[in-house]
Amino acid sequence: MTTLAGYGLRLHGFGFKTLGLEKVGHLLASADSLAWSTHARHRPPMAGHTHKNCANCLPYALNWRTRVLARMPAWQQPALDAA
Ligand SMILES: [Zn+2]
Repeated sequence: MTTLAGYGLRLHGFGFKTLGLEKVGHLLASADSLAWSTHARHRPPMAGHTHKNCANCLPYALNWRTRVLARMPAWQQPALDAA
């Protein structure tokens, strides 16, 4: 990742794990993962949500994103915009 980023490439972390983001997230232009959806699928829905689980739920995904970004070292936090 360091070598590729060194060439100025805008890298995308496809299916990246949170531990990987903590280590090399600062080298990525973007990343995605279905980990949040899998996590939600095996848990009851968030308070006030009426669906079976939050596997396809924007508030759950945004909470996941907030937790992931909070775990990253401050000097590594990328400027990932929520779409
Ligand atoms: Zn939900």
